[in-house]
Amino acid sequence: MMNPTRREFLRDVAAGSAAVGAGWALGPRAAAAMLPSAAVSRLQARVQGQLVLPGDAHYDQSKRVFYWNPKTQRQPAIIVQCGHEDDAIRAVEFAREYALEVAVRSGGHSHLAWGSSDGLVIDLSRLKQVVIDPARKIVRAQAGAFGGEVARAAGEYGLVPVLGQCPGVSAIGVTLGGGLGWLSGLFGACCDNLLSARLVTADAKTLDVNAQSAPDLFWGLRGAGANFGVTTSFEARLHVIGSVLGGDVHFAVRDARAVLRGFREIMQAAPDEFQATLNLTPGERGLFISLCHSGAENEADSLLKQIQSLAPTVREVVQRQPFAKLAEKAAATNPGKGPALAFRGIHTVYRDRITDEIIDILIDQLATAAPDVVMGLSHYMHGEVCRVPSEATAFPHRQEHSVHLRVAYNWSDPEETERRFAWGEEWLRQLRPKSDERLYANYQTYETEVGSPSLFGSNHARLLALKAKHDPTNFFHRNANIAARRG
Ligand SMILES: Cc1cc2nc3c(=O)[nH]c(=O)nc-3n(C[C@H](O)[C@H](O)[C@H](O)COP(=O)(O)OP(=O)(O)OC[C@H]3O[C@@H](n4cnc5c(N)ncnc54)[C@H](O)[C@@H]3O)c2cc1C
Repeated sequence: MMNPTRREFLRDVAAGSAAVGAGWALGPRAAAAMLPSAAVSRLQARVQGQLVLPGDAHYDQSKRVFYWNPKTQRQPAIIVQCGHEDDAIRAVEFAREYALEVAVRSGGHSHLAWGSSDGLVIDLSRLKQVVIDPARKIVRAQAGAFGGEVARAAGEYGLVPVLGQCPGVSAIGVTLGGGLGWLSGLFGACCDNLLSARLVTADAKTLDVNAQSAPDLFWGLRGAGANFGVTTSFEARLHVIGSVLGGDVHFAVRDARAVLRGFREIMQAAPDEFQATLNLTPGERGLFISLCHSGAENEADSLLKQIQSLAPTVREVVQRQPFAKLAEKAAATNPGKGPALAFRGIHTVYRDRITDEIIDILIDQLATAAPDVVMGLSHYMHGEVCRVPSEATAFPHRQEHSVHLRVAYNWSDPEETERRFAWGEEWLRQLRPKSDERLYANYQTYETEVGSPSLFGSNHARLLALKAKHDPTNFFHRNANIAARRG
């Protein structure tokens, strides 16, 4: 039997016939969900994974991603849980045929819930294969592998990957947007360590992209990668380091000003081997610095002493450990103990240095913050990631001493949504004016007046041309999207 065409599909929708999800009240989103059931069955027969449809037992769980809340949530018409890399090809073909908006999901940690959509979700999270080649110091992994899982596999061979600081973020998701982690001072951004990617393009073709086969596209994948297709697997460089000194040093919140100022001084002189994140909460976790030092023990001990001397410490959990153990530690933005909350929100801003004004704003905002709020200063930019020229990859924001600020919060009552966002947006309103409207793709939480030049800086024109060549209809747009300058 021939596949129904889009015209036939639209006719079926208009007639309300042969549709899955029958019995739904026909709302604006339900129309998108009315796919011909025969076409859905044919798709199921062609993929090795599972389809999840509205009304299925796992639908509510399967549609959700990390930053899910009443403003970001979506109701997918169909979720393709890929069981094989080629399932992504079938999913792209299907989405094209039925004109469905596509979301690509690996780890589901996008700040704007880009891993969900009202159309078709290509969910790669079950593709978990990770293969280490110890002789070549390379990892080959499928898209669903989390950062923590890759670190654990590499650690078994005494090797380390360059990935983000959250174990549950997918290794490929963080890399396609640039990628900043504990080891970026030593080895650059995650994307600087990418060697190749297997890509399913907007016209459902598979390409093996590397510096030789497609140098332009390979350049674009490293920072704007979600724009060009579905990366189903990839290869990245691994490194050798010894054990690391890592963990958390906690202080009383009343010492926040002294600790923030001291943190700034320590980071201004930080060696490449050192990275630290400062977290500030009004809750039981208080104020704490999470650190990782991957160099000589005497230098690590000296840096730890400097941190300990910033103010009286209230708790310390710092130890020498394999890097993989630190890499599997939960991110600071995760809510603390207690029952899981339904909704999460986040705002981020990129600033060129830690100023006294930033310190004042963070301390003032803390006074009115709900107990679940976690503010942070992450990825102090220094070392190798800043030595790589901004034009070397599509990821441009590599200024020394710049820093990423964030505030994350959690709630369960939908009635609280506006109030929680109003508080978060006030935090952003105060910190954003001096950001020069630069945005980091992996942390995008708002749009600027000019649009995507904020994300890609001096690389924007080259990326526009690449996007026009490889995805002229912007089929892949649930991402830090390349688009013409506004205004
Ligand atoms: C708790 C937490 C900690 C974080 N820590 C860091 C950090 O230390 N360093 C850092 O740089 N960033 C960090 N991030 C940001 C994170 O790197 C980005 O949000 C990243 O895009 C998430 O990837 P994902 O696959 O987990 O998420 P998803 O929501 O699945 O995807 C995010 C975006 O990438 C696209 N995408 C995902 N997989 C693919 C694929 N296989 N092919 C094509 N496009 C794809 C999606 O379409 C979407 O646009 C953190 C985020 C969270 C929530």
